[in-house]
Amino acid sequence: MATIRLGISSCLLGDEVRFDGGHKRDSSLVETVGPLVEWVPVCPEVELGLGVPREPMHLVRSDGEIRLVGTRSEKDHTDEMEAYARRRVAELVDHDLHGYVLKARSPSCGLVDVIPQIADGGCGRTHGRQIRRCAHRDVSRPARRGRGAVEGAGPPPSIPRARPRLPEVCETPTMSESPFELSSTFVHLGLGASATPVPDFEWSGEFLETYAKRFASDGDDGRLVCITPQSASWDVWERHPAGEELVVLLSGRSTFIQEVDGAGQRIELEPGQAFVNPTNVWHTSDVHEPGEALFVTPGRGTEHRPR
Ligand code: SF4
Repeated sequence: MATIRLGISSCLLGDEVRFDGGHKRDSSLVETVGPLVEWVPVCPEVELGLGVPREPMHLVRSDGEIRLVGTRSEKDHTDEMEAYARRRVAELVDHDLHGYVLKARSPSCGLVDVIPQIADGGCGRTHGRQIRRCAHRDVSRPARRGRGAVEGAGPPPSIPRARPRLPEVCETPTMSESPFELSSTFVHLGLGASATPVPDFEWSGEFLETYAKRFASDGDDGRLVCITPQSASWDVWERHPAGEELVVLLSGRSTFIQEVDGAGQRIELEPGQAFVNPTNVWHTSDVHEPGEALFVTPGRGTEHRPR
């Protein structure tokens, strides 16, 4: 039987090649699909020589062009990535791939979930650099797979392969056509009544710094919408100088506490009940039964102090 050969973003196999030295191993791919196929792993950023760990990158639209730049240094890697992608895609064609599985939302690998930072006031979504190059060479046609990875596993060798082109930049489906979990993909509400999903949100300092920088132009009007588990009482107080925060308890049972005139004002919440944390008021929470809560938070300048 002929071998099915698939290209794959190597972090999905568990290779520790991500910017932070981690991986995004997809066990369903590795354990279920893996025995049936031959993987051809690719990590564009490592193969480009950027090393591990490295500065994270994002896509920025500037003067009508999509550029691949470092989130802190703003170093522009577009030209070198384009040159690398030309070489690498030619090699992948020689591998006679039947499809590929690509990490979604990666500026280098992702297909449709990459949301470029808008530098010129426009709006839109685009493909990662590598997949754009693949699209132009018609290696195969990737398709989305679930929330995380995208895959383009073409049919097995015995079945003729259709090779339609990918749509060009900004013609990909909108997020509204693609449901997501608000507990992992948070949403940033910005000026102009915009709502921008932020996938794989992390509470790490690096991620928060990148997030704040990306949406800095929204100023105090930027809000983060998220669902977070309330599994234990908070060990910190926090406050939001930029504005008022809406809190909705979705499940479980909690008492939220606001510090007003030096005293703790307690707000007992049942599922479905909500309250507002006033601007700059210190607040915390005691969790009686674990559950989840929805927050709409003006996060700019948020402060914490130990409880
Ligand atoms: S998403 Fe692509 S560029 Fe990023 S670590 Fe994975 S393979 Fe490398």
